[in-house]
Amino acid sequence: MRKALAGASWTVTLVGITVAMVYGHNPDLLPRLPVIGVAIFILTLAVSAFTTRPSVTVWTTAWTSTVSFAGALVVAAHNTGHQSLADSLFVLALVCLSAGLISVTRRRLSSDARASLIDGAIVAMAGWIATWVLLLEPVLRQHAQSSLTSSVRAVGLALTCLIVFLVANLSFTDSRRTVASTLSILAPLAAIAGYLLFAIHSSHPHHISAGAQRAPFLAALFLETAALLHPTISELHVSTLVRRTKPLLIRLTTTTAALIGPLFLLAITNAHNTLDRSVRAGSILVLASAVMARVIQSVRENARVQDTLLFESLTDPLTGLPNRTSLLHSIEEALLDTWRTNTQPTVLFIDVDRFKNINDSLGHAMGDEVLSEVARRINVAVPVEAVVARLSGDEFGVLHAGTESSTQAVMLAEGILDSLRAPLSLAHGDMFVSASIGVSITPRDLPLTPDALLRNADTAMYRAKNAGRNCIALFDDSMLEKVTQRLDIETALYRALERRELHLLHQPIVDINLGIVTGFEALMRWDRGEAGTVSPGDFIPVAEETGTIVPLGSWALVDALSQLREWIDSGVCRPTTTMSVNVSARQLHDPQFVNVVNDALATSGISADLLWLEVTESVMITEPAQALASLRRLNSIGVRVAIDDFGTGYSSLSLLQKFPVQRIKVDRAFVAGIDNAETRAIVRTIIAMSSALGADVVAEGIEQPEQLRELQALGCTMAQGYLIGKPLSVSDVPAKVRSIEDPHLFKHITGN
Ligand code: C2E
Ligand code: MG
Ligand code: MG
Repeated sequence: MRKALAGASWTVTLVGITVAMVYGHNPDLLPRLPVIGVAIFILTLAVSAFTTRPSVTVWTTAWTSTVSFAGALVVAAHNTGHQSLADSLFVLALVCLSAGLISVTRRRLSSDARASLIDGAIVAMAGWIATWVLLLEPVLRQHAQSSLTSSVRAVGLALTCLIVFLVANLSFTDSRRTVASTLSILAPLAAIAGYLLFAIHSSHPHHISAGAQRAPFLAALFLETAALLHPTISELHVSTLVRRTKPLLIRLTTTTAALIGPLFLLAITNAHNTLDRSVRAGSILVLASAVMARVIQSVRENARVQDTLLFESLTDPLTGLPNRTSLLHSIEEALLDTWRTNTQPTVLFIDVDRFKNINDSLGHAMGDEVLSEVARRINVAVPVEAVVARLSGDEFGVLHAGTESSTQAVMLAEGILDSLRAPLSLAHGDMFVSASIGVSITPRDLPLTPDALLRNADTAMYRAKNAGRNCIALFDDSMLEKVTQRLDIETALYRALERRELHLLHQPIVDINLGIVTGFEALMRWDRGEAGTVSPGDFIPVAEETGTIVPLGSWALVDALSQLREWIDSGVCRPTTTMSVNVSARQLHDPQFVNVVNDALATSGISADLLWLEVTESVMITEPAQALASLRRLNSIGVRVAIDDFGTGYSSLSLLQKFPVQRIKVDRAFVAGIDNAETRAIVRTIIAMSSALGADVVAEGIEQPEQLRELQALGCTMAQGYLIGKPLSVSDVPAKVRSIEDPHLFKHITGN
């Protein structure tokens, strides 16, 4: 329906303008066109009231002005003696049109209404000058006797200026431009063009044919009909739809033409009498004032926009705090003043702990609320002269220029941690947050750049995070060395795989009761040539953070399983011997992980039940859904899962129940403390819990025969540790297996 109406609207526009032009050229070709046009218009009026539904104002304006124009034209055609009646009807039509346009323009005013009103006034003044010089002044001069006609004509011409003003404003508006709005701008323009032709005809000796006079009115009639038919006519009164790009070009060209046109006209024509001279001078004065007002308005608007842009470029929109750039400016100023104040400007780098969890679980709106409240608390906690800034996401920075000692700096940070201790009351209820704060103090006699000071605070903040969060770390130079070392590892790690710098060591896992090797744990080593061997404790965390652990872990799986295949085939170990491979949380997040394991099993030809995947408890916490899904799928094909370092992490019993776990590895810390009664009680509980879950237990890090005996007494059947065998290179494994499985020697190890 809407499409059909839009199609009809376009047809009326094109056909209407064409036939109006033909009529203008030779009315005899289409003698009935005015009657047909009016009939179509009346029909459209009725149809549109039920279909396109223009607002009452638009609808009323359309028919009142059309009826008045038609009446005026009929009177003008048949009653040449009654000029003033025709003129009065024209004025009535123009009044109706102006009233409708005022109503629509008011609704669709630009967001910069003042500027577009002035622009509209400039265009209207140009129209007025042209009208005065070309039409009104000659009429007044000629019809000096018939004052009624000339005054009515004067009113009519003044109204055309008003209409030009309104139409200009409508076309300068930044409301959404639609077909109906364009047609509604063009129709009044066509109508006043017709009126001006009529005025010229009746005041100048030049003959303008009746067809040519009526053609613009006919065009206006068809354009108005098309506008009423178009579905977008219902939006004409709506002010909320705003265009992104403002119609600057049309505005610029129209106002420029409006400035040049009248000046040109005044330059080539002479004033006829005093009245003419006064009107010309007055009009130019008004035009010049409008231009002046527009220039002043433009300059002020520009300054305002620049101020806003500058403010926005230095301010965080969420909290209204200064941003990183602004903080760096402030730090620079503080540093420049230190020679005079003898102070040590301090920068705090504050990071909200676990903010990602808040954002992910409660949504960004809540996250924003938390950040705003944290910003407010920090602001209250620091002295008024300190600068609080939001650096990015959940990171805030504080500059205190007047710090005199490191104690003072740490107290400032403590004040902030204190201020965050009380729960934040948010729309959804109370919530606790904490933060990690890095403190960097400008050293005396050692110039630092603002960037360096902020970076040092950032480095210290990471230290605070690693120390368990919700705490403060003071920057010292050794931290920077650590960072450099870490960066060094990070870059070298990317290459380690291609350069074949990685290898696996294998640590035997034994059955204490049977004295046999039941499996091996594969432990990664990185051989950096001259730089020596790097232990996994140093590079695995970096690999996890950068994601390199994903390819490294895949390689370890293939290598470990292929090695097991070789040992089984060559009789080094039994065909039931298992291989344990450590898996990071990051690997389990990888959707490809299940495929990677399957490929490794297929490549090595090892059956799935010989593979143990060792995961730490943190895996259960960080990404339960994804990890759970991968582990369940692998479990279903026979791969088994062990919880590594049990008892050092979160040890959530509910999660443990959810996870498919077949083995629990008691952390070495418990083994080391087994001579302590409390620790023994814990280990006993872990063993009991494992058997309840149907999982076996491996004790890690056994170094003393007494530890082994104690664990055996507690019911632990499997063990791993330096006492039995250190992580071994591939070549050392066969001899080690033989020595462990020699009953004589094993008795020696266990001391039984
Ligand atoms: P983990 O899985 O708990 O491995 C046991 C760690 O304890 C190994 O350290 C091993 O050398 C050490 N260990 C074994 N027995 C004893 C003992 O009797 N006394 C002492 N003091 N230590 C003993 P390592 O090889 O330095 O590995 C450290 C950690 O690095 C591993 O802990 C594991 O979490 C991780 N890791 C090692 N290889 C890989 C790997 O291929 N992938 C992943 N994701 N992590 C790995
Ligand atoms: Mg392990
Ligand atoms: Mg372990």
